[in-house]
Amino acid sequence: MDKEVRVRFAPSPTGALHIGGVRTALYNYLFAKKHNGKMILRIEDTDQNRFVPGAEEYIKESLEWIGIIADESPYAEGAYGPYRQSERKHMYAEYAQKLIDEGNAYYAFDTAEELDAMRERLKAARVDTPQYNAITRMQMKNSLTLSEEEVKEKLQAGEPYVVRLKVPRKEDVRLNDMVRGWVMVHSSAIDDKVLMKSDGMPTYHLANVVDDHLMKITHVIRGEEWLPSAPLHVLLYKFLGWEDTMPQFAHLPLLLKPDGNGKLSKRDGDKLGFPVFPIHGAFPGKDGAAETFHGFREDGYLPDALLNFLAFLGWNPGTEQEIFSLQELIDAFTVERIGKSGTKFDIDKAKWYNQQYIKVKPATELSTFLIKDLEANGIAIDSKKVEKVCEAMKERVIFPAEFWTEGKFFFMMPDSYDENVVRKKWTEEAVSVLEAYREAVLKADKLTSETSKEILNNILDEKGVKIGQVMQAVRLAITGKGGGPDLMEIIEILGNAEVADRIQKAIDTLPVKQVN
Ligand code: GLU
Repeated sequence: MDKEVRVRFAPSPTGALHIGGVRTALYNYLFAKKHNGKMILRIEDTDQNRFVPGAEEYIKESLEWIGIIADESPYAEGAYGPYRQSERKHMYAEYAQKLIDEGNAYYAFDTAEELDAMRERLKAARVDTPQYNAITRMQMKNSLTLSEEEVKEKLQAGEPYVVRLKVPRKEDVRLNDMVRGWVMVHSSAIDDKVLMKSDGMPTYHLANVVDDHLMKITHVIRGEEWLPSAPLHVLLYKFLGWEDTMPQFAHLPLLLKPDGNGKLSKRDGDKLGFPVFPIHGAFPGKDGAAETFHGFREDGYLPDALLNFLAFLGWNPGTEQEIFSLQELIDAFTVERIGKSGTKFDIDKAKWYNQQYIKVKPATELSTFLIKDLEANGIAIDSKKVEKVCEAMKERVIFPAEFWTEGKFFFMMPDSYDENVVRKKWTEEAVSVLEAYREAVLKADKLTSETSKEILNNILDEKGVKIGQVMQAVRLAITGKGGGPDLMEIIEILGNAEVADRIQKAIDTLPVKQVN
């Protein structure tokens, strides 16, 4: 590409950023980086009725957590700022004026009641989707039906008005979407959208097109829900004389419910017990009570695992490879490999990714999670031991919280024993092996996973007992559980004295099953 690639992620701060929004941000980011371009974060906050305090901070924190940092944004001003539309309010009027002056937009003075009455009239006449359009506009109160004098008077008297786009009556509007190919819409299907509201704020459509132009955006990558607006945007580019530099569009497939039946919603997450938002948050809801959002971060998803998962929700590399670092995603990403059809949201796949990433993370990094839980539980931190525990456990963990919940026994004597194992495996034979093992362990110099195994094997040989008959009982005595990481590694981490004490405690606590 000869021009510098410039893409934008343009969320509206109207609530929590849905995980689908994070995917849109990611695809923009990958595309920008792949082409050595720039990603812009623009906050589209022109709709004052839908503005939610805290939502912008939520978006910022979410993107930072996941590691998608825009090159230009309200927090990293570039040459095309400001990057919040509310701060650009003064920039839009001239374009609305140009559209009016050239006969492509007009003033409309209709009150809410008049608009309602129009809709009722049309419904009564069996029009399915009543629209303010090339036909109906002529029965309304606007600068096309009123005399120039009347319009002037109204404007001077400060009567509230909106500016509407004058959509041509008969025209095919086409656009070549990078994902969907040619999309053609007849202008009769587009209504005379409001471009400027009575509060002097532009609507999404005008602000979005003007800003994409002024910010020199080359590619608009956004969710499929915006596809119906795209023809309108194409008209705006044309009327504003910006056709030559119109960005290319790529509309991303929808994220679907796990069963494929419709769009993924917050309710699905609540119902099925998984997050559909990146981070936890709470915003004032409509009735004043706070609405809380359950987040991937708080559920223990790692940002890089989540990124990898999201990259595959609608795109694939065309190979078998599933694990991609961010750089690998950048290198492999192409719009051609974005699918057209909706993608089912599969939380098990997200878990799988998390597990794969934890497995290969260095124990030093994983330690930070466990240290937090240890501190919260008042346990003194021995960082070497914490690292060893993480190393021993990381193959079996899906979420970092499990280092503590499943690995408590590394730091505390068991206070209960898995009853099933007690019933089946706590035999006289096992106890006699454990007694001998306890003594040998106390005498041994330094216990490693190899020497502890050797010691155990010697005892088993002497007693003529097969390892399978007693192994679970040994584990039970030391950890209280029937399964877990490699037992010999556990023994090495715990050390001689602790292992001996635990065996003693188990022998003292557990009733021996009588073997007849
Ligand atoms: N502000 C719109 C949103 O909230 C942006 C849509 C677009 O990218 O054009 O998603």
